[in-house]
Amino acid sequence: KYDYQNEDKELWDVIKNEQTRQENTIELIASENIASNAVMAAQGSVLTNKYAEGYPGKRYYGGCEFVDKSETLAIERAKKLFGAEYVNVQPHSGSQANQAVYSAFLKPGDKILGMDLNAGGHLTHGAKVNFSGKIYQSFSYGLDPKTERLNYDDILAIAKEVQPQIIVAGASAYSRIIDWNKFREIADEVGAYLMVDMAHIAGLVATGLHPSPIGIADVVTTTTHKTLRGPRGGMILSNEKYAKKINSAMFPGSQGGPLEHVIAGKAACFFEDLQPAFTEYSKQVIKNAAAMADEFNNSDTIKVVSGGTDNHLMVLDLTSTELNGKEAQILLDSLKITTNKEAIPDEKLSPFITSGLRLGTPAITSRGFDEKDSRKVAKMITRAIEHHDDENVLREVREEVSQLTQSHPIFD
Ligand code: PLP
Repeated sequence: KYDYQNEDKELWDVIKNEQTRQENTIELIASENIASNAVMAAQGSVLTNKYAEGYPGKRYYGGCEFVDKSETLAIERAKKLFGAEYVNVQPHSGSQANQAVYSAFLKPGDKILGMDLNAGGHLTHGAKVNFSGKIYQSFSYGLDPKTERLNYDDILAIAKEVQPQIIVAGASAYSRIIDWNKFREIADEVGAYLMVDMAHIAGLVATGLHPSPIGIADVVTTTTHKTLRGPRGGMILSNEKYAKKINSAMFPGSQGGPLEHVIAGKAACFFEDLQPAFTEYSKQVIKNAAAMADEFNNSDTIKVVSGGTDNHLMVLDLTSTELNGKEAQILLDSLKITTNKEAIPDEKLSPFITSGLRLGTPAITSRGFDEKDSRKVAKMITRAIEHHDDENVLREVREEVSQLTQSHPIFD
């Protein structure tokens, strides 16, 4: 038997080190989670060997009888989870899902109106450095400077001026409930399609903890690896009337062979997401984020953008501290707390520096952190930032991180 872990130590040591890093680190990157053994086993299965261009029952290759079944399982489970008429589980990633939707609904040069990257939108919502801002004319809306929330009247005014063919709602760093009906009214007013990218909040939507855009938007995209806790990948949901054009925009329009092992991982994930335990988990994700935000609100220096959170994430405004976003991220990394720097409303610094940090609770909740633990984490972050040059404080925080991670093991 080939002992790959010893034969190729160079690679397998890296993978073991990453496992140890995850075990010993408090993971607060809002877009990350900890996939189950079932999801990882499906992804690491023999399905990786199979080519299956096309769709179940209509493939360009022989031998697809079993992957047809697993892809159909993924589709049917996703339909049930979200109450959707049509689902495509083939996008390799969230970005590819968005790319396929644009190519289904737009022509090159058409106008996209999405949330500004600096305000919390995603690259694929029209950023100039991304295909979405190169192939299409892109325009953006931001946050209300007073409330630091979406202002639907302002978005309507921009939409009237721009006259986009598609409006994109959804974000990578927005902590409040998004009113899909308001976006629908705006899209109808200017005759645009409405696309919702629910990548961040899909798990909360699936469990009824955030209003669902299904049936309101023309088309919905998501990733499967964030709050849904599945394999890295994307998905498109819509009505039957758009099935044909989305299917052909996906394959052959944007991709070749689907990743059938990842699609099986999606099926495993949706099976788990349909269980009552996943609703309990998702409720805890929100409770943990609320507890953290509440703790930060007790601090004199750290401000939570918009004053709090309704979902799994928050953005911290560090302008009253001595650190910028990049410095805070590096400091916390050295304490084994993983975060990412993030632009705040009216950001004055470059995207490589920023004045904020984005924190999310999906991963810590998956390893069993509750509100008490989450409050402790927020206190540790506040102390570390406020006393960033006091080695004694930093040593104590490191010790607390170690206690918390050891009392919540991830891997058996
Ligand atoms: N859409 C949103 C809102 C996201 O936050 C992300 C990723 O963070 C994506 C799309 C893209 O997903 P991927 O990284 O799988 O391409």
